[in-house]
Amino acid sequence: MRSLQGRLDLCSINTATLGHREPLDVTIDRIARAGFGGIAPWRHEVEQADVKQIARQIRAHGLTVTGYCRSTYIPATTRAGFDANIAANRAALRDAAILDARAFVMVVGALPDDSRDLRGAREQIAEGIGLLHETARDCGVPLALEPLHPMYAAERSAINTIAQALAICTDIDPHADGFLGIAVDAYHCWWDPALLESIGAAGRDKRIRAFHVCDWLRDTRDMLLDRGMMGDGVIELAALRAAVERAGYDGLIEVEIFSKDNWWRRDPADVLDICAQRLPSVC
Ligand code: ZN
Repeated sequence: MRSLQGRLDLCSINTATLGHREPLDVTIDRIARAGFGGIAPWRHEVEQADVKQIARQIRAHGLTVTGYCRSTYIPATTRAGFDANIAANRAALRDAAILDARAFVMVVGALPDDSRDLRGAREQIAEGIGLLHETARDCGVPLALEPLHPMYAAERSAINTIAQALAICTDIDPHADGFLGIAVDAYHCWWDPALLESIGAAGRDKRIRAFHVCDWLRDTRDMLLDRGMMGDGVIELAALRAAVERAGYDGLIEVEIFSKDNWWRRDPADVLDICAQRLPSVC
């Protein structure tokens, strides 16, 4: 496993970690100044700015865009709604290409409004990924399917384990052309009894396109916005990174912390300082 001592260039900050409290151009400068090698911006930040200007600024700092967050949910109640969701994702993929993102992060969605048809939602998701895989190839930006913790299966993602994501990848892209893979997020997958086996399987087809770290707090108070700083929770992060790197992942380690009552209330410079300390010591 790579050492992260003195290697912040191997580490990336997802802008959500700083709570989206400052304009994106300020955040980009801040992350670069702190010495990190990468950044993962969000669409709502980029789409309200000038994507080409943002891309220039990121490039001028030499930052790698470790992921572009994130897809519009795929399932919809009507076919027109589904088509609109695909179109929105295609537009975002074109922006991801301008940003030279290493991956377009896919949080695929789950049950449409008033639906209990989880199987139908998963069928829409598989169809949508198939369509977007073609766009990804055209744009030169891989899709990274991010399995979400099963507590989100109703609203955010009906893909909930790495094994499930890999099965979709194999089905749509049996020859592993490099444009359909997964994002491994410690917060979502740490609990999975098949975790190491699934990461090994992901490595065989070189599917791991992103690696996100934070921690799972034993007394989690909010299922979305109470992620912990690395080292403050129960995840064996170093063992997880070792497995991911054994599986061939050689990209950056991205910190992604949603924390409305703690880290989003702290000074952004302090948050980055603590990330910089914890990455080599805990991850
Ligand atoms: Zn993530």
